[in-house]
Amino acid sequence: MSLSSTSRLPLRCWAEIDLAALERNLRLIRGSLPTHMRYVAVVKADAYGHGLPQTAARLMHAGADLFAVANLAEAAALREIGPGWPILLLSPLLPEEDTYVAEYDLIATVSTSDEVERLNKVGAAADRPVTVHLKIDTGMGRLGVWHEEAEKLYAQIVGAPHVKLGGVFTHFSSPDDDSKFTAEQRRRFLAALSRCEGIELGQLFVHADNSAGLETLESAGPFNAVRIGLLQFGILPHSQSLLAQVRTEPVFSFRTRVGLVKDLPAATSISYGRTFSLKRDSRIAVLTAGYADGIARAMSNRGFVLIRGTRCPILGRVTMDQTIVDVTDVPNVERGDEVVLVGKQQSAEITIGEFSRWADTIPWETLCSVTKRVPRIYKTSLGL
Ligand SMILES: *Cc1c(COP(=O)(O)O)cnc(C)c1O
Repeated sequence: MSLSSTSRLPLRCWAEIDLAALERNLRLIRGSLPTHMRYVAVVKADAYGHGLPQTAARLMHAGADLFAVANLAEAAALREIGPGWPILLLSPLLPEEDTYVAEYDLIATVSTSDEVERLNKVGAAADRPVTVHLKIDTGMGRLGVWHEEAEKLYAQIVGAPHVKLGGVFTHFSSPDDDSKFTAEQRRRFLAALSRCEGIELGQLFVHADNSAGLETLESAGPFNAVRIGLLQFGILPHSQSLLAQVRTEPVFSFRTRVGLVKDLPAATSISYGRTFSLKRDSRIAVLTAGYADGIARAMSNRGFVLIRGTRCPILGRVTMDQTIVDVTDVPNVERGDEVVLVGKQQSAEITIGEFSRWADTIPWETLCSVTKRVPRIYKTSLGL
């Protein structure tokens, strides 16, 4: 295994990104899908905090069919790495952003009539049609044309000379906990498509499923692509799932170090606000990371970390640059020891699901909360 880093300084808090695991995950997910399903790799938000360039390059190598990003800046960064690679912009375009769709050769998501008009002008000016995916709102209440009106927007796209329809899609609001509503959303989507006259679904990307959607994916029918974010990073959107059978591995782990060890007498209060006081004579370790790195303040008096393969509770409030843990029962803890916030150490593990529950959030947000101060260290061996 080789570790690469842009910094020569010792690491105080870092995220380890296992690119070989990412590649294995893509291949596993693909292998679990019907062979005609195309793979849309969702790499918005700096590839869920994993780092866009490294992640996207590896996903290209592993055989993603299309990339999806949230905004122009992400699309431009991706275009640098992948000339010619299809990139779908998931978010709506601001008025002054239109021309960049042609400049970066992007696929736009359209939900409204004025977007089609605007992109038609962009296509005319560029002398090259702009490809769009028509988004249909089947119950998310966010982007997309309301499903009962989709056929009108479809007709407008087909009639626009400088816009080319490349796909149709919808997005589920509760794929992880409401299979009935998800089924209703699928039904609305298919019904809307059936009203689009002359639509040739076989020529288009037809997609609805994100990671959690795969639980109820219908291999029959017109669906021929999936949009995968979380699962490719080895994280299950919920427990007890069919998806667990696709044995993806975590790509991300989150680590810090012990900066100081000291003994304190019983009844000493710990950290800001004195929300915790020691119940016994104790040994504490001060970690070299805090909320400025991504250890949520909500984990104060709640979370755990791994040191020497043992779970150690967080004592008192998490602070900006330091977090205090109890190591009274862990022999030989020393300054410099590696501490696991998310990931494995010896036979112990803290999953991102646990970390997120302690932080009162979800794994998606946890990944987006690891700050810029935290270097991403890439494990680049194939590890096959
Ligand atoms: C983020 C996003 C996805 C990926 O969702 P995961 O749950 O991370 O797989 C898919 N589709 C859209 C529209 C998204 O915004």
